[in-house]
Amino acid sequence: MNAGPAPLLEAEGLVKRFPARDGGGPVQAVSDVSLKVWRGETLGIVGESGSGKSTLARLLLRLIEADEGSIRFAGAELRKLDTQALRAMRRDMQIVFQDPYASLDPRMTIGDIVAEPLDIHRLGQRPERRSKVLECLRLVGLGPEAAQRYPHEFSGGQRQRIGIARAIVLEPKLVILDEPVSALDVSIQSQILNLLLELKQRLRLSYIFISHDLSVVEHVSDRVAVMYLGRIVEAAPAVPLFDRPLHPYTEALISAIPGHPQGTARIVLKGDPPSPQNPPAGCHFHPRCHKAFARCEVEVPRERIVADAGGARGVACHLY
Ligand code: SF4
Repeated sequence: MNAGPAPLLEAEGLVKRFPARDGGGPVQAVSDVSLKVWRGETLGIVGESGSGKSTLARLLLRLIEADEGSIRFAGAELRKLDTQALRAMRRDMQIVFQDPYASLDPRMTIGDIVAEPLDIHRLGQRPERRSKVLECLRLVGLGPEAAQRYPHEFSGGQRQRIGIARAIVLEPKLVILDEPVSALDVSIQSQILNLLLELKQRLRLSYIFISHDLSVVEHVSDRVAVMYLGRIVEAAPAVPLFDRPLHPYTEALISAIPGHPQGTARIVLKGDPPSPQNPPAGCHFHPRCHKAFARCEVEVPRERIVADAGGARGVACHLY
């Protein structure tokens, strides 16, 4: 959905290496990742644990620094901003973490937790901050009495509502949701997903929605990027991607969704994902790929744009 003249966020060629704990070669957690997020859309990022998706989220917010690449947000190159300018820009970019238990300070009241970003950015006087906090609590479905209480008094779903209230209090343009429902019971997940969809409409938000759960990503995303071992292997509008996955990894993931039409011929992935410290040569997916051929073992596939009935999509696979 290209809703604006320029993307709200555009990352190009992002690379992140971490030193290995055992003194071996560096671990390439994110390799040459490029993506765009348009105003008002949700970009889902999906992949198994260790695919680099959470590292990518932190790179995009500059919570950790990329080794290479560029990140443009609302027209500014984030990697060139000094501390003060970055701080100002962060008002527009917020994150909601997976674990609503770990991300809320147990010694602070909910009112103080939600008000903290306003305090940090020195926005408004006390009465204005208080009314803003109460408004955000209301938007996430919590009453004003919640402001006086502490995190341990709330359930997991309510805590995630508090995390969301804190993320929207600065009226951001983009919210990165990092596995926002993975720690919650299935019955609560849909309530939080519906809340996120409602807030997106009401507050004109853009989301990056990160999850290992494809059915959740399918439910909320306009476009989807599939990550494997630090790379985006397929990126496409959600509907054609789920209807007709092109990359063999996407195909295997979708075939495993219970009840999904693609699931009638389930493709079982061989083994676990390899270590990013020692990735296989050629296509990193080749040892597990049901369509691998000789070239896959020696040559890294580059992303190609494939024209499809549902629009153009990017695929990194020698089959295309
Ligand atoms: Fe499979 Fe080869 Fe495509 Fe990699 S490049 S996904 S191994 S067919």
